[in-house]
Amino acid sequence: MSTTKTRTKPTRTTKPKPAAVWRNAFGQTEVSLNHPDAHVSAPARNCACRQCAVHRAWYCKRLVEHNVARLYEIRYPSGGCGRVAVGANATDEMRDLMEGED
Ligand SMILES: [Zn+2]
Repeated sequence: MSTTKTRTKPTRTTKPKPAAVWRNAFGQTEVSLNHPDAHVSAPARNCACRQCAVHRAWYCKRLVEHNVARLYEIRYPSGGCGRVAVGANATDEMRDLMEGED
Protein backbone atom coordinates (compact mmCIF):
# COMPACT_ATOMS: atom_id res chain seq x y z
CA MET A 1 0.00 0.00 0.00
CA SER A 2 1.45 3.31 -1.07
CA THR A 3 1.14 6.37 1.18
CA THR A 4 2.37 9.04 -1.22
CA LYS A 5 0.07 11.99 -1.43
CA THR A 6 -0.05 14.34 -4.30
CA ARG A 7 -1.07 17.85 -3.69
CA THR A 8 -1.94 20.37 -6.32
CA LYS A 9 -1.03 23.98 -6.00
CA PRO A 10 -4.01 25.97 -4.76
CA THR A 11 -5.46 28.32 -7.29
CA ARG A 12 -6.26 31.88 -6.50
CA THR A 13 -9.96 32.50 -6.49
CA THR A 14 -9.90 36.28 -6.30
CA LYS A 15 -7.77 38.79 -8.13
CA PRO A 16 -5.34 40.77 -6.00
CA LYS A 17 -6.41 44.32 -5.39
CA PRO A 18 -4.36 46.91 -7.23
CA ALA A 19 -2.06 48.94 -5.01
CA ALA A 20 -3.74 52.09 -3.83
CA VAL A 21 -2.04 55.22 -5.16
CA TRP A 22 -3.07 58.84 -4.68
CA ARG A 23 -1.80 62.23 -5.76
CA ASN A 24 -1.23 64.91 -3.15
CA ALA A 25 -1.79 68.65 -3.61
CA PHE A 26 1.52 69.03 -5.50
CA GLY A 27 0.84 66.13 -7.87
CA GLN A 28 3.20 63.76 -6.11
CA THR A 29 2.28 60.10 -5.94
CA GLU A 30 1.46 58.82 -2.47
CA VAL A 31 0.84 55.18 -1.64
CA SER A 32 -1.10 53.40 1.07
CA LEU A 33 0.53 52.44 4.35
CA ASN A 34 0.53 48.77 3.34
CA HIS A 35 2.19 49.39 -0.03
CA PRO A 36 5.70 47.90 -0.29
CA ASP A 37 7.11 51.30 -1.37
CA ALA A 38 5.57 53.18 1.55
CA HIS A 39 8.02 55.39 3.49
CA VAL A 40 11.02 54.06 1.53
CA SER A 41 10.41 54.87 -2.13
CA ALA A 42 7.31 57.01 -1.89
CA PRO A 43 5.49 58.89 0.85
CA ALA A 44 2.60 57.10 2.45
CA ARG A 45 -0.74 58.82 2.45
CA ASN A 46 -1.52 60.75 5.66
CA CYS A 47 1.82 59.70 7.19
CA ALA A 48 3.77 62.25 9.21
CA CYS A 49 7.01 60.30 9.63
CA ARG A 50 10.36 61.86 8.80
CA GLN A 51 10.97 59.76 5.68
CA CYS A 52 7.68 60.76 4.11
CA ALA A 53 8.31 64.41 5.02
CA VAL A 54 11.69 64.27 3.27
CA HIS A 55 10.11 62.68 0.18
CA ARG A 56 7.57 65.52 0.06
CA ALA A 57 10.21 68.20 0.64
CA TRP A 58 12.45 66.85 -2.13
CA TYR A 59 9.51 66.73 -4.51
CA CYS A 60 8.60 70.35 -3.75
CA LYS A 61 12.23 71.42 -4.17
CA ARG A 62 12.42 69.73 -7.58
CA LEU A 63 9.11 71.34 -8.55
CA VAL A 64 10.38 74.80 -7.61
CA GLU A 65 13.67 74.28 -9.49
CA HIS A 66 11.79 73.06 -12.55
CA ASN A 67 9.53 76.13 -12.53
CA VAL A 68 12.49 78.49 -12.05
CA ALA A 69 14.19 76.87 -15.05
CA ARG A 70 11.02 77.30 -17.11
CA LEU A 71 10.78 80.98 -16.13
CA TYR A 72 14.42 81.46 -17.08
CA GLU A 73 13.76 79.90 -20.48
CA ILE A 74 10.79 82.24 -20.98
CA ARG A 75 12.83 85.29 -19.90
CA TYR A 76 15.86 84.31 -21.99
CA PRO A 77 14.55 82.39 -25.01
CA SER A 78 17.94 82.30 -26.71
CA GLY A 79 19.48 80.50 -23.76
CA GLY A 80 20.87 83.45 -21.93
CA CYS A 81 24.16 81.70 -21.32
CA GLY A 82 27.48 83.39 -21.97
CA ARG A 83 26.19 86.88 -21.33
CA VAL A 84 25.53 88.72 -18.15
CA ALA A 85 22.99 91.50 -18.05
CA VAL A 86 24.18 94.40 -15.94
CA GLY A 87 22.01 97.04 -14.39
CA ALA A 88 21.60 100.59 -15.64
CA ASN A 89 23.72 101.95 -12.80
CA ALA A 90 26.77 99.80 -13.72
CA THR A 91 29.95 101.64 -14.61
CA ASP A 92 31.32 101.44 -18.14
CA GLU A 93 34.25 99.36 -16.93
CA MET A 94 31.91 96.90 -15.25
CA ARG A 95 29.65 96.79 -18.31
CA ASP A 96 32.60 96.07 -20.64
CA LEU A 97 33.96 93.44 -18.30
CA MET A 98 30.67 91.60 -17.87
CA GLU A 99 29.21 91.93 -21.35
CA GLY A 100 32.45 91.39 -23.20
CA GLU A 101 33.45 93.18 -26.33
CA ASP A 102 31.83 91.81 -29.44
ZN1 LIG B 1 5.89 57.59 6.49
